[in-house]
Amino acid sequence: MISIDSIHRTALTLMSKAAIEIPDDYLDGLRRAAEAEDGDLSAFVLQAMLENYDAAKEDGRAMCGDTGCPRWYVKLANEARIEGGPVALEQALRRATADATHNIPLRPNRVHPLWRTDHDNNVGIAAPEIEVAFEPDGDWIELTTVHKGGLFGTDYRMLFPSDGIEGIRRFYLDSLVAFGKRGLACQPAIVGIGLGGSKDACMVLGKRAACLRTVGDRNPDPKIAALEREFIDLGNSIGMGAMGFVGKSMVVDCHIEVGYCHTGGMQMSVHAFCLSSRRACARLHGDGRIEYRTDPQWFTPYQRRETVEWPPAAVTAAVA
Ligand code: SF4
Repeated sequence: MISIDSIHRTALTLMSKAAIEIPDDYLDGLRRAAEAEDGDLSAFVLQAMLENYDAAKEDGRAMCGDTGCPRWYVKLANEARIEGGPVALEQALRRATADATHNIPLRPNRVHPLWRTDHDNNVGIAAPEIEVAFEPDGDWIELTTVHKGGLFGTDYRMLFPSDGIEGIRRFYLDSLVAFGKRGLACQPAIVGIGLGGSKDACMVLGKRAACLRTVGDRNPDPKIAALEREFIDLGNSIGMGAMGFVGKSMVVDCHIEVGYCHTGGMQMSVHAFCLSSRRACARLHGDGRIEYRTDPQWFTPYQRRETVEWPPAAVTAAVA
């Protein structure tokens, strides 16, 4: 049984880690971008950001004045048992979000869309987002928090199957140029692309691709992996670098996730996880152990399953 107290305490630690400690995979990607960048202003920005991250960690302060919008991704293994059940879990995450906003502190960004009511704690109607998924084996739960910045660095287009890969390239480039020229996100960023699904699923897939995969991770489908590699180079060839200045460091990595869609369409979303790629994760085991990491490992074979049965019938037959 996983106690609510341990979920609350772990969630508080994760909020602090996400706000202050930049994940190593992104930091390494940023260092590589800084080494390769030859645009004066872009190179200056990258160097300043690297120094800023060091200072944030040393001082124990948030790495960006805009601490984004905290959100939660929860994985429940099939045999996990939570004290008080899922309602208590949600309440613990909402309480940790409010407590962390005061204690770290985080900027209380969340307000009512019409009345601008501000509870001063990043909690409100439908905030923070808490997304839940399941895994087949184990008695653990995993908590991942993402402090998502880049308020405007997201876009969606309904493509047709006949638009093909060329249409995907075009919308990708249109989005990056708009993000850079109009200051809609702080680059360089991990870019997530959602393809297919319904419109809402497409947005979810693209955001998860940006926020829940690490720099260097590739999609297991070799053709999609090749497209990811191509899109890193393509994104860095449009003449824009850090913060939209002249350069070649727009994209630290590109991740693509797909979902089955209606045969008449090919939905596409593009999401930039900004210069502050804030994520932290922990697995809480049924026996009380807690393991922290920065890789959410969200996209397991089970999350990308194509089958009705699990494990897939062919695998089960081969093992038997
Ligand atoms: S987009 Fe990211 S790096 Fe830029 S101000 Fe917002 S949180 Fe900070």
